[in-house]
Amino acid sequence: MLDKWWEITPLQEMTQDEWEKICDRCGKCCLIKLQDEEEDGGEVYYTDVACHLFDGDACQCADYKNRQLRVPDCVQLEPGNLEALSWMPPSCSYRRLQQGLGLASWHHLVSGDINSVHSTGNSAIGRVVFERDIDEDLEDRIVEWPIIVKN
Ligand code: SF4
Ligand code: SF4
Repeated sequence: MLDKWWEITPLQEMTQDEWEKICDRCGKCCLIKLQDEEEDGGEVYYTDVACHLFDGDACQCADYKNRQLRVPDCVQLEPGNLEALSWMPPSCSYRRLQQGLGLASWHHLVSGDINSVHSTGNSAIGRVVFERDIDEDLEDRIVEWPIIVKN
């Protein structure tokens, strides 16, 4: 594999292995999102409420292999489905590459540390709640931190 292959390989042309390495494991795409009606602008809001299958301590899906079976509306991001990028947070590494921004300094391929996404505050680790544990409406759990990118 070439040095910095992600800078010269379009997302659509990545191998499965390369594609998986781009995910920074931030976990933000596993947060429940709310969207305004299209006629009201269609804006997307992030909550700090995670999908029931999310493992908040490990900051990853608890059953990634079977996620589509267990959570049918789980958004599947893959080379043939880049439209799904519009649902990803601004910090999402796939979204950054698609926008020509390159990987952030805290990305593990740049930092060499798989945990730097967490230590720099760019992930959902330790910050989420679950619907089963809260009484509030989802609207009351809208938060800004998932859309903030710390470099
Ligand atoms: S938001 Fe993007 S980079 Fe972060 S976990 Fe989801 S797919 Fe991976
Ligand atoms: S099913 Fe897994 S990958 Fe999909 S949103 Fe839920 S926790 Fe995330």
